Amino acid sequence: MAKDFSSFLGLEGASRKKSCLKALLPFMKGEMISLGGGLPHPSTFPFYSLSADIKSMDSSAKGKAGSSVSDLVTVPHGPQPGKIESLSATLQYGAGNGIKSLREFCKEHVRRMHCPQYQDWDVILTAGNTDAFSKVISMLCNRGDKILVEEWTYPAALELIEPLGIGHVPVSMDGEGMSAVALKDLLDNWGSNPEQANDAKPRVVYLIPTGQNPTGATMSIQRRRDIMQVAQEHDLILIEDDPYYYLQFFVGEKDKVTGETIGWMPSLFSMDTDGRVIRLDTFSKTLAPGCRVGYMSLNVQFTTIVQYHNEVTIQQPSGFSQGLLAEMLVSHWGQEGYARYLTENVRTEYLKRTQFMQGCFKKYVNLSLADFIEPSAGMFLWIKIAVDKHPRYGAVADSVLMLELFRKCVEKNVLMVPGWQFSCKPKPSNIDFADLMNAAYDEQANYVRATFAHATFEQMEHGIIRFGEALNEAFAK
Ligand code: PMP
Ligand code: PLP
Repeated sequence: MAKDFSSFLGLEGASRKKSCLKALLPFMKGEMISLGGGLPHPSTFPFYSLSADIKSMDSSAKGKAGSSVSDLVTVPHGPQPGKIESLSATLQYGAGNGIKSLREFCKEHVRRMHCPQYQDWDVILTAGNTDAFSKVISMLCNRGDKILVEEWTYPAALELIEPLGIGHVPVSMDGEGMSAVALKDLLDNWGSNPEQANDAKPRVVYLIPTGQNPTGATMSIQRRRDIMQVAQEHDLILIEDDPYYYLQFFVGEKDKVTGETIGWMPSLFSMDTDGRVIRLDTFSKTLAPGCRVGYMSLNVQFTTIVQYHNEVTIQQPSGFSQGLLAEMLVSHWGQEGYARYLTENVRTEYLKRTQFMQGCFKKYVNLSLADFIEPSAGMFLWIKIAVDKHPRYGAVADSVLMLELFRKCVEKNVLMVPGWQFSCKPKPSNIDFADLMNAAYDEQANYVRATFAHATFEQMEHGIIRFGEALNEAFAK
């Protein structure tokens, strides 16, 4: 069983209660005639059917990765025993944890992929990891608290907590993501730095363990074990935001050294024996971001609170999304079909893309001026710019040289994200086009982030050619 984490709840989490109207739901079964809940009558829903043309994953389509074989699927009209909820049920109000068939599919998927090591864990549907993260923060943190984050991190996470008066403390990273040694060192010595004198020791860590945004780093198995050990030693909650988990490029391929088939990285959640990891999964990178559906795996002390929060905010993800996802995943693909889809489609597409962009980079960019660590997962190349090779290095601030490079890139019509956007240092508010073109930020952010996820192969090649030219010109004088 999970440890007792009640002392980790913030004021909001500790005082969140079940919505009293939702407490009526368990009565609605058997012979009960409900004149209770104010559910609108389905005859007033102007949606007579909900269908989608989806990728076929049946065995006859097997082996045709990337093939265009499709299936027309329709959310059932009436109740079908053992199958998914009917259209009128998916479009109706429900409990705050998502429709049963989809939630159970996600839970079974988590059980197969992550083999949780304690009993009282559960899965709750979310409107994606952005929504999930905001709910976890409001459950655990109070104004004045500080959370620990990777030294380069997803800006939206920091943008969410800042107006809530919740601070963040960066933890150093290397090619394998957050350093366990740095995390331990920071916590062992917490308070010895005068800047921390008035701050409570952080108890929550936010990290992106696989194909990290922006660095592309993936934690090794040993690094994950080491982080878990520090988490136990210092009694931490880990928020494992893992949208790029299924974009592990080498899963299913043979290891060049051992010849063994490469498997999925064990998640932090899979190593957790205490219930201290809150795992956030999303369909945004595996199906489509516009679904706005994800799922959170965590101990039931916490799922209950997130469910209460959903009851008074989103209620549950959109019924259209849930209905179509359930029809596709539960009634058509099944667990095996979804697993095959992830490895044969999502993973292989991004593998092709990363290899192509890396190839272009090596061909068209002066590698003594810009280079990256090859990512094994995710969507990003984190490109380090050798500002020390610039003829004016030392005479002007690094940030000015980086700004000049950004301007050159824009002039050449190629856009990459300036590294400072992922920095933990305070950023100016309401940055606009003029700020990006004119203001220099953060002396140590000598990186740019490029994604191979979205552009066409032709655009990627031209983009990298333009970047190579911009770099050469920016470093010419
Ligand atoms: N406000 C009031 C007064 C309501 O009666 C209801 C529905 N019961 C809601 C809000 C919930 O609205 P929504 O489904 O758009 O979240
Ligand atoms: N977390 C990280 C680290 C991300 O990179 C992203 C997407 O850019 C998200 C969360 C957003 O996920 P979702 O679409 O599920 O809200």
